Amino acid sequence: MNDRFLEGRAALVTGSTSGIGLAIARALAACGARVAINGLGDAAQIDAAVGAVRDAGAADVRHFDADLRDPARIAAMMRDAQAWSPIDVLVNNAGIQHTAAVADMPAERWDAILAINLSAAFHTMQALLPGMAARGFGRVVNVASVHGLVASVQKAPYVASKFGLVGMSKVAALEYASSGSRDSGGVTVNCICPGWVETPLIEPQIEARRNGGSRDDGVRALLSEKQPSLRMSLPDDIAALATWLCRREAHNMTGAAIPVDGGWTAQ
Ligand code: NAD
Repeated sequence: MNDRFLEGRAALVTGSTSGIGLAIARALAACGARVAINGLGDAAQIDAAVGAVRDAGAADVRHFDADLRDPARIAAMMRDAQAWSPIDVLVNNAGIQHTAAVADMPAERWDAILAINLSAAFHTMQALLPGMAARGFGRVVNVASVHGLVASVQKAPYVASKFGLVGMSKVAALEYASSGSRDSGGVTVNCICPGWVETPLIEPQIEARRNGGSRDDGVRALLSEKQPSLRMSLPDDIAALATWLCRREAHNMTGAAIPVDGGWTAQ
């Protein structure tokens, strides 16, 4: 499926120095896009991510440095990225997690999770959607979570941020639904809602379930709580869907929140 259908287009993927974001950046690169990556990490990690995206086939790749907790840094990144290229594909992927009961959740963690997982997506979409509409083509792919559809204990800020992301995406989908045409591809806004995906983000939750056993024991315990397939997704599995959403023929798929959760939300 990876023909070079994104040649001549540019994509910005937030949080793409690791995990799902890096897989999406590589997949878009393989389709011929110029790719702007963003995310935290030391120089070696950022260089490795840039190299991986270049090796995947990107027409061009650049790292845009912004801590997404800071709206001023986001605004500067959006100015710099658009000076580099008009952005046709925006993937809001950056996200963090912290598990604790509501009564024990540090207020600072609430603020950071809402800022990165939700408010940053508002700022990037606000900056890019008008240009996408003017050009008749645009894709916003927001990496939400199964926790944008159902709740779990000890995840109040994460669940609030992901439900918010799903809701905001539906509003933007409606506002831009009639932009462009079937031929130009239109402007769509969708969420992907993964269950468990094999990335560093969930390691603390695997660790918490080992009970003195192996990492595999922790993984099995985690999956058996909620994910009926008993299989984790790979970042590349999520990237394949994100890439498909960018195709012209996905022009009428908008406002959707698509579970990739092994049956979690079918229960
Ligand atoms: P990850 O920890 O591997 O990657 C997170 C990325 O976000 C990294 O590049 C990191 O540098 C970046 N980031 C974190 N804080 C940032 C900040 N302040 N400013 C800029 N960038 C920042 O995690 P992942 O699992 O790949 O998560 C990616 C997305 O997928 C998140 O939104 C997460 O909520 C979502 N998700 C993950 C899973 C899962 O099981 N792994 C399931 C559902 C949804």
